[in-house]
Amino acid sequence: MHLDPFELHEPTSLQDALGLARELAGRFDYLAGGTDLLPNYKMHLNLRPNLISLERVRELQGFDGHRIGAMTRLADIETHAELRSAYPALADAVAEVATPLVRASGTVGGNLLLETRCFFFNQTFPWRQALGFCLKADGDRCHVVPQKERCYATFSGDLAPALAALEAEVEVAGPEGSRRVSVERLYDAAGDGIRRLSLGPGEIVVAVHLPAHSAGPGSAYTKLRVRPSFDFPELGVGAALRGDPNTPEVVRLALGGLETYPRRFDAETGPLAGAPLDAASARAVAEAITRKVRPVHNTFLPPDYRRRMTEVFVRRTLLRAQDRLAGRAT
Ligand SMILES: Cc1cc2nc3c(=O)[nH]c(=O)nc-3n(C[C@H](O)[C@H](O)[C@H](O)COP(=O)(O)OP(=O)(O)OC[C@H]3O[C@@H](n4cnc5c(N)ncnc54)[C@H](O)[C@@H]3O)c2cc1C
Ligand code: SF4
Repeated sequence: MHLDPFELHEPTSLQDALGLARELAGRFDYLAGGTDLLPNYKMHLNLRPNLISLERVRELQGFDGHRIGAMTRLADIETHAELRSAYPALADAVAEVATPLVRASGTVGGNLLLETRCFFFNQTFPWRQALGFCLKADGDRCHVVPQKERCYATFSGDLAPALAALEAEVEVAGPEGSRRVSVERLYDAAGDGIRRLSLGPGEIVVAVHLPAHSAGPGSAYTKLRVRPSFDFPELGVGAALRGDPNTPEVVRLALGGLETYPRRFDAETGPLAGAPLDAASARAVAEAITRKVRPVHNTFLPPDYRRRMTEVFVRRTLLRAQDRLAGRAT
């Protein structure tokens, strides 16, 4: 595996980065920590001749506890005491991403926007060539659900489900100006594993905003993966509760690692608002969510196992968030 040559552009302001994006339309990728993009480039997956580095763009820097600049390294927020006590689900999720080395380079923005994964896609060029490639890179069919229109690659970021449960928003800048969008709306529910984002051409994620009303001890994130030392999620569950620990006023649950985009399950958690939260009601919600999820066979663990684990992980995550809210756990 080798990295083909590319031209590196290093703007220092958002305006310059957007100007370059306009000039190089369709022929560039943004580069943050590179821990997702560059391994994909080494496998010759959807190469572009230009990379616009976001490293020096000043508007994307900085972290003050509520606003996290997109270029903030995961390692920089991992051990932040204020963040851990205000948004424990986010601290859990950050600590579960990859390895310390990857977290030292990987950024918050890159984590939200990482490429979807599939074991027919994340392979070397000769491996994919031997199979005739696939829709997501160089080919015209899907090996998971054989057809020619839709890609089922899985969204495998850890931060998005935790941030969606915490009702975080993403600040986006593009040629038309800036806007804010909820984390779950950053992903296109009508898209697929290829067109997975709701971002317009050239748009940049500038920062993540954590709402003050979500601050508190009652949140958690848990993750199913094959090797706990560094694997991507096969399932990730973010939960956030507010109010009385026994009858929480607000209950939010979001899942990642199962489908093409992370999803929040407000319809299923709605009946829990203001109602007693205990083992039985947590199980009922977990079962309702399990009936809704549709993993496919494109990661290491079989879909049926991931669906069954959904019930277990949703229940455990809800009860862990409740224990934290009640002061019974850290
Ligand atoms: C061995 C290994 C294990 C891993 N395990 C995990 C894991 O367990 N969980 C997990 O979540 N991830 C995992 N990752 C993936 C990755 O390391 C992280 O998701 C990381 O946070 C990506 O951030 P980055 O800054 O390196 O992104 P990059 O690779 O630089 O970028 C990722 C994508 O986002 C785009 N992009 C980046 N920033 C912006 C921005 N601000 N605006 C617009 N576009 C942008 C890039 O163009 C690119 O398409 C793993 C990676 C490796 C190599
Ligand atoms: S789901 Fe299908 S089209 Fe998408 S990456 Fe996998 S094999 Fe390719």
